[in-house]
This record gives sequence, C-alpha cells and structure tokens, in this order.
Amino acid sequence: MSLFDLTGKVAIVTGGNGGIGLGMARGLAGAGAAVVLAGRDAAKAETALAGLAALGARAAFIAADVTKATSCRALVAETGARFGRVDILVNNAGTSIRKMPQDFTEEEWHHVLDTNLTGAFLCSQAAYPAMVAAGGGKMINIGSMMTLFGAPYATPYAASKGGIVQMSRALATAWAKDNIQVNAVLPGWIDTDLTRIARRQVEGLQDRVTARTPAGRWGTPDDMAGVAVFLAGKGSDFVTGTAIPVDGGYSIAT
Ligand code: NDP
Repeated sequence: MSLFDLTGKVAIVTGGNGGIGLGMARGLAGAGAAVVLAGRDAAKAETALAGLAALGARAAFIAADVTKATSCRALVAETGARFGRVDILVNNAGTSIRKMPQDFTEEEWHHVLDTNLTGAFLCSQAAYPAMVAAGGGKMINIGSMMTLFGAPYATPYAASKGGIVQMSRALATAWAKDNIQVNAVLPGWIDTDLTRIARRQVEGLQDRVTARTPAGRWGTPDDMAGVAVFLAGKGSDFVTGTAIPVDGGYSIAT
C-alpha cells in the first residue's frame, strides 16, 4: 500500500474549493496528504474545508488568483511556511466561456487562456523550487475531452486544454532530472458547477453525454480521486508526460 500512501506529503490543489479539485483533494487527503485548497471564493472553501476536516485531514484554504504570477508565488510560499514543504501540485483551476468563435472578445479569449493554461504554468513555475528542495514532486494538470475533440462553442477552452497537454510534456522533459513527474488528466463529463452552467447553455448536452458514455452516466468529482492519488504517489514515479483520460470510456466510444 505504500505505493499509494501520501502520509507526510503536502499538496496544493488550485480550484480545490469545489468540483473536480475538491474530489481530488478528498482523495489526496484520504491517502494521508495535507491539502491546501487554493482559489478565490473563501465562502465556498469553508464548506470544502469542513468536509475535509470531517475526514480527519490537515487542510487549509489559501486565497490565490492563478492568473497572477505574484499570487502563485505567494501561494507556494505560504504553503511552505504553514506546512513545511510542497510535494504535489494539482493545476485544476479553470473556467470556460461558451460562444461561437466569431463572437469572442479579445478579453474573453485571454481570460480563458490566462486561467486555464497560463495559470497552470505560473503555478508550476512557482512550485518548482519548493519541489526541488523537497527532493522531487508531482504535478497533475487538468485537461479535458476538449484536449482531444473540438466543439463549436469552446474555441479558447479547447485551445487551453490542448495546450495543457503539450505544456505537461515539455515540463516533464525539463524536470525529470529533478525527480518531478508532470502528467495530465483528461476528465470526461463530470457533474460540477462548470458543467451545470454548460447544461443550461448547450441544448441536449445532458442526454448526449449520457448516451455517448459507455459507462452510461456522468462522472462525479469523487471519480477523479483515484487518478490523483496514483499520480501523486510513489506508484507513478516512472510515469511522466502522459495524459490519462478518466471518462467512463467517452473518448474511445464511436
Ligand atoms: P468548477 O467551476 O467547480 O471549479 C473551477 C475552480 O477553479 C473553482 O473552484 C474556482 O475557484 C477555480 N478558479 C477559477 N478561476 C480561478 C483563478 N483565477 N484563480 C484561482 N482559482 C480559480 O469546475 P470543475 O470542477 O468542473 O473544473 C475543474 C477543472 O476541471 C477545470 O480546469 C475544468 O476545465 C476541468 N474540467 C472539467 C470537466 C467537467 O466535466 N466538469 C471536464 C474536463 C475538465 P473560485 O470559485 O474560488 O475562483
């Protein structure tokens, strides 16, 4: 079981105060890690922290905006000050704006790219020295089915999620010598705030996804916990630069 034991490890999960990030944070905490939830919404984080405390986890919320390099560096510094080290970074913070490509403003394009792709890069860059000091680390970046497929309403989102995988590969090659593994996870359709909005905006999405997914259902945030534990633990020490779909078979179905 030591391959999946995270006792003594410290994890930062951006956007860990809800949705997929919280599902992953619950998994990491259950495997023994101390978990820092990073995000902007402190009220949402309070509920998330109460849930983690009920599991007996060491957890804290640190306010951070991943689009700002100074905020990412402060997040890592504060985590180090409060928990002593940083071993695991889950770059999960993300957003989407759904429109036809011809209707996006320049600001909307940048908002999605800055949050989903630049934010992941800035947090990775900020965490790198702390992981080197810890003797290694694990970075888990969140892609999407839009890494693999296109959709008419998701141009900046798909661009950011394609970029996440190529960024993961580049970082994996750069930092393997430091014993830092960098991988991506590609969630299928998961029931969260983000997709609740999508289901309101995209007609028929709920049923289309259920019908196309071999597992016959939408995923839940807790479906994302196991892959996070695997990619954060010793069991994945020779796994780097990969992109693992966790999608109930959505990406392999015709
Ligand atoms: P949520 O909207 O529930 O979670 C997104 C999280 O990102 C929020 O907790 C939010 O925290 C945080 N966040 C957004 N902007 C920032 C920012 N600038 N700085 C810090 N935190 C920020 O959606 P999901 O859980 O669904 O999404 C999580 C990730 O999974 C995203 O990257 C998304 O693209 C990806 N994904 C989701 C899928 C799904 O089906 N749900 C499928 C594939 C990928 P706060 O509110 O505090 O700002």
